[in-house]
Amino acid sequence: MILVAGSANLDFVVQASHIPAPGETVLGRDFKTYPGGKGANQAIACARAGQAATQMLLALGNDPFSKPIEASLLAAGVQMHVVRVEDRPTGTAFICVSDDAENAITVAPGANNALRGEHLPSLDGCNHLLLQLETPIETVIAYAREARKRGVRVVLNAAPARALPDELLELLDVLVVNKGELATVAAHQGSIEQCMQRIDVPCIVVTLGDRGCCARVDGELIMQDAFAVMPVDTTAAGDTFCGVLVAALDRGMNMAQALRWANAAGALACTKHGAQSSIPTHAELLDFLSQ
Ligand code: ADP
Repeated sequence: MILVAGSANLDFVVQASHIPAPGETVLGRDFKTYPGGKGANQAIACARAGQAATQMLLALGNDPFSKPIEASLLAAGVQMHVVRVEDRPTGTAFICVSDDAENAITVAPGANNALRGEHLPSLDGCNHLLLQLETPIETVIAYAREARKRGVRVVLNAAPARALPDELLELLDVLVVNKGELATVAAHQGSIEQCMQRIDVPCIVVTLGDRGCCARVDGELIMQDAFAVMPVDTTAAGDTFCGVLVAALDRGMNMAQALRWANAAGALACTKHGAQSSIPTHAELLDFLSQ
């Protein structure tokens, strides 16, 4: 079983001719709301594409914004541990998408910032704990420490990018980063290999967008090219990759096999619009991998 502990947001997306400059007002067009947040996206990828028994610890406000988030997790088969926060709203993200596909995003973390060490549910039966950095860093460290104590493997997707304290790095079994996050965590602007060498974690996985992914596992390097697809929207490709990677590891695959699944799922997520709506199902993934 996998426990994902992290963020859940409701995304408010408006399409406009261009992103407003400071002080400018732009009349937008279509407006939609979508459930999102790295934690929730990754939990859905674990459950939907990875077919893994998945639980999620999340904090939500006592407001209508929380409803679509819960509905989406429920539909994917994620068992939720909800911390209901009375004095903060559910996390939200305000996203303006321009006609040339640029975006500008403001996140109001709200209830996500109320997740605390004491909220961690029992880790009985849990083999993997999957964490991100959209919740307070002290909370992430507390969860990783408890998991390590109980022999649960700790996987951190270090996104959004920030420097990581040594006390967190030493609790990790697997670190998943994109190229920018790798440079931030390594505090180094050199090659991928040089950056990896500066980080003391047994397994580091680096996602490389349309160049696929690579990993260093106990000193050995694994490279995988991206699957060839026609991308229409890369939103949540990284989250899909993380969720499916952990689901595959949880099912006993080795790192090379798990990377193949994650790489395929990330590619498929780029072929559809949206975040959670673009995460493939297990059947779609099997079909894609058998072609
Ligand atoms: P992030 O969005 O977190 O920066 P990446 O852009 O590295 O993450 O994408 C995550 C994964 O999604 C990649 O490792 C790859 O597996 C897949 N992916 C992303 N973009 C493409 C693409 N254009 N073609 C095929 N696969 C892609």
